[in-house]
Amino acid sequence: MALYVQKFGGTSVGTLDRIEAVAERVAQTRSQGHDVVVVVSAMSGETNRLLGMAQQLDPDAKRREMDVLVSTGEQVTIALLAIALNRRGCPAVSMTGDQVRIHTDSAYGKARITHIDTDSLQSELASGKVVVVAGFQGRDEHNAITTLGRGGSDTTAVAIAAALKADECHIFTDVDGVYTTDPRIEPKARRLSTITFEEMLEMASLGAKVLQIRSVEFAGKYRVPLRVLSSFIDGEGTLITYGGERMEAPLVSGIAFNRNEASLTILGVPDRPTVAAQILGPISDANIDVDMIVQNTLGDGTADFTFTVNRDDYRRARALLELTASELGAACVQGNGEIAKVSIVGVGMWNHPGVARTMFKVLGEEGINMQLISTSEIKISVVIDEKYLELAVRSLHAAFGLDQEPSEQPLGNNPGLI
Ligand code: ADP
Ligand code: ASP
Ligand code: MG
Repeated sequence: MALYVQKFGGTSVGTLDRIEAVAERVAQTRSQGHDVVVVVSAMSGETNRLLGMAQQLDPDAKRREMDVLVSTGEQVTIALLAIALNRRGCPAVSMTGDQVRIHTDSAYGKARITHIDTDSLQSELASGKVVVVAGFQGRDEHNAITTLGRGGSDTTAVAIAAALKADECHIFTDVDGVYTTDPRIEPKARRLSTITFEEMLEMASLGAKVLQIRSVEFAGKYRVPLRVLSSFIDGEGTLITYGGERMEAPLVSGIAFNRNEASLTILGVPDRPTVAAQILGPISDANIDVDMIVQNTLGDGTADFTFTVNRDDYRRARALLELTASELGAACVQGNGEIAKVSIVGVGMWNHPGVARTMFKVLGEEGINMQLISTSEIKISVVIDEKYLELAVRSLHAAFGLDQEPSEQPLGNNPGLI
């Protein structure tokens, strides 16, 4: 008898029929003698609907109250699923994050799980029940409800699997696994039967929303056996693997992208050691995450400094940068809210500089200008004009042969030939 944590996302519980289908699947697993903890998201569209209502009342509503509001979406689905399970004769009990005692810090809207009390989960499991837990939420040390950031139910599931030392954590969603890129952008994308933890971490951090990045971080830290599966069709899905062999990997395993980016440039700042900290200090004090950073020294005692932020933070970041610009006597501030980041990811590329050349050549041949570039051992990211995003993703997908099985991929993706 095994213990499984099974998470079902918004589309998978989006209607009462879908909830019945999830109940059927869970009841089947239970009837095979396994223990099951189910984690569910809110019905699809519900979290956006709740956010929209608060926005109408006050765009700057207190974040604590926002978390009380948006956590309710998941409270609806846990109750409905528990009702559907009990009706089937499969004993089940619903629990909010607070009731389980999923402890988090107080960073409302993007709280981090610090630890999980497993006593109540374990006693409900021991009494033979399926426990249905609300994803995306916890409680802080002041007894306030917190939420874990968009897509956070993935993290709830993996964290519970780690805390309970579950045999496997299954993330059921509306695609049947992790693909070489988002199949909604490139229909020729191919499902990967396995992906290394490092690649999945990069893909998630670079915009592939199939798994929330923090869920992948948890999985890696506690080596949680993690599989992404479809809640609509049967299949083996995609297994996240740990400690794989780098030499045999394809150069590029996947392409991720993020449309939700904006860039800011401050021109003509004094070229001296503390200036970067002066520019980024107010941004970080405002809790705005910065992604890429590039400084160009111009040789005349000045420098230009560019960085990217989440598009939701663009206006705030620009206002702060204008203030810094006048303090520093900078020439001006420029911004671009219509950019996108495209990244190629693969553990096999770590020792192959030719991969970057291929990427830049492909984009150049399509007439796509690269505004910023950043690299790590296993990824290359470029910022481009948002209107070229789909073209860039499809061209790179074809150039690296990702629409073909690894054994049939063209020279472009063969480690021996680049
Ligand atoms: P859920 O509501 O189940 O959590 P999400 O919408 O958060 O589902 O994540 C699933 C979606 O992730 C897919 O519908 C797909 O459009 C998108 N996606 C982005 N990149 C990938 C990828 N590389 N592989 C699979 N899906 C991806
Ligand atoms: N309901 C939350 C969201 O829409 C959490 C989740 O679905 O994982 O982001
Ligand atoms: Mg999700």
